[in-house]
Amino acid sequence: MSEGMTVQPDLGFIKYLKNAGGDTLKKCYQCATCSVVCPLSGDNKPFPRKEMIWAQWGLKDKLVADPDVMLCHQCGDCTAYCPRGAKPGDVLGAIRAYAYTHYGFPQGLAKLCSEGKNLPILILIPTLIIGLFWWLSGGMHLPQGAIDFGLFFDSHKDHATIIGGLTQNVLIIDIIFVPAFAFAVFAAYRGVSAMWQAMAAQLPEKSAFRPSVVQFVTMFLLPAIKEILQHNRFNQCGANRDRVNGHLPLMFAFIALLAVTAYSMVRKDVVGMFVEGMHAPLALSDPFKILANVAGIALIVGIGILWVNRSKMEEESGATPTFYDWFLIGMIMAVGVTGMAAQITRLIEIPVLAYMFYFLHLVSVFMLFLYMPYTKFAHMVYRTFAMAFEKYRESPFAGKVSQ
Ligand code: SF4
Ligand code: SF4
Repeated sequence: MSEGMTVQPDLGFIKYLKNAGGDTLKKCYQCATCSVVCPLSGDNKPFPRKEMIWAQWGLKDKLVADPDVMLCHQCGDCTAYCPRGAKPGDVLGAIRAYAYTHYGFPQGLAKLCSEGKNLPILILIPTLIIGLFWWLSGGMHLPQGAIDFGLFFDSHKDHATIIGGLTQNVLIIDIIFVPAFAFAVFAAYRGVSAMWQAMAAQLPEKSAFRPSVVQFVTMFLLPAIKEILQHNRFNQCGANRDRVNGHLPLMFAFIALLAVTAYSMVRKDVVGMFVEGMHAPLALSDPFKILANVAGIALIVGIGILWVNRSKMEEESGATPTFYDWFLIGMIMAVGVTGMAAQITRLIEIPVLAYMFYFLHLVSVFMLFLYMPYTKFAHMVYRTFAMAFEKYRESPFAGKVSQ
């Protein structure tokens, strides 16, 4: 902070941090123990001590444009060692939660996703949308005969094709999920672009050169993704190594499930238009079905470890329970458990339960993707681009940041 700088605190922001898990920030007396223990903090980088004083001063605009805040992986080392119980890890988590709302588009949905009291509405929105399509497609009747989720939105037509070779079921699934997914991608793009501009505005020097798209991807984005996949920084955690044990299987489960979903869409939506019988469920022995089941188990195990770990952090290290943390854990657990329960009840042939779990599975998947840009799930994109920015600001395209 330069001498003579006028501090203009945002009191609303300080109040938000206090309510969102950062209520201890006033206890910080700038001893810098957290900067010593934080694996992200270098010799010339007083992180997160610097962010603690910015937060005390209510410097919202500096904090939401600070890549280091997004790079923190909430290991809790700083919170465990802080002699004042100021919980810097929680303060940073609260700043990130604020940033996702701050950059969120549209703002109304971003704000809705930021508070626990809105949970009933957040569940009701996908329930009503999916329920409406279920009602329109067949009056909410359960399909007769052998359990087949490919007939859920097609209970009277028995795999009859309606457009090209597409069944009504596949078409309705696409009508529900493709726009939701596209909307989430667009909203995340808007948010990340705003964050990047805010971070670039903080650079001390403005470069006359801009990287091309190819340079941006190869020099900054791909190296950041590679680092994330390897979990290098997580491995530097001291106090809380269980997080990497949960986060790693979870991340690979998501990648595998995305691959299976893409395969399934191509098989049913593209090939299915020309080849009869491609709409049937995958056989248990199909390699993609095996991959989906292994990924489903990895998802439940990974989120289970993170669930236990978060509870331990709250009990033993005094971390503050927040909607921001638990909403994501709850949504991912719901996706894993309902998906697995739908499969098991299908295999043991209990139609009512199988279709009920399938419906709940659709609701939870819809929630996970539609709300991705505003919940803790958003760290997937914000963190990736913050890491890319970290590489960008050290490159010839940008001046180095002074601390
Ligand atoms: S957060 Fe705690 S460890 Fe860090 S500077 Fe403040 S008092 Fe010291
Ligand atoms: S939670 Fe971990 S990564 Fe984040 S500031 Fe604290 S020590 Fe550093």
